[in-house]
Amino acid sequence: MSRILISACLLGRPVRYDGTGKRLADPRVERWHAEGRLVPICPELMGELPVPRPAAEIVGGSGSDVLAGRARVLAATGEDVTAAFLIGAEVALDLARSTGCDHALLIDRSPSCGSLSIYDGTFSGQQVPGAGVVAALLAAHGIRVFADHEIDRLAEAIAHSP
Ligand code: SF4
Repeated sequence: MSRILISACLLGRPVRYDGTGKRLADPRVERWHAEGRLVPICPELMGELPVPRPAAEIVGGSGSDVLAGRARVLAATGEDVTAAFLIGAEVALDLARSTGCDHALLIDRSPSCGSLSIYDGTFSGQQVPGAGVVAALLAAHGIRVFADHEIDRLAEAIAHSP
């Protein structure tokens, strides 16, 4: 049975930078949860960042650039939180491996969990194509990552998985 990493905030857990969740109200999420398929992650908390915390954005590239040391993650306060993001991403990858997750459903636009788009690093609300740090790391290790608004595609992929 395919198991799925899921951004904890999509389950309504209050882990976002502003102390809120962002529940994805979809019967498939509830069914997968009841079937024991879902493995919640919050990479920013796994990197020991607190709740609440300042918003953060990737500056100078995307998640893969952060993994390669070519870009950084900065908080809106200017604090460099790159190390925490990298640690959290590695912990999430370890959890994916130890629990047998081969798919992930992650909230888009986050500097961690975004998989199709992220903010551009200017803290002005502008988005650019690209993935966040954990989404890039998981994808690089063969885990199929889907954005929250791609749940139809995820459901189809799972239907064709063992
Ligand atoms: S790191 Fe991911 S799971 Fe945690 S609050 Fe941000 S988007 Fe949600």
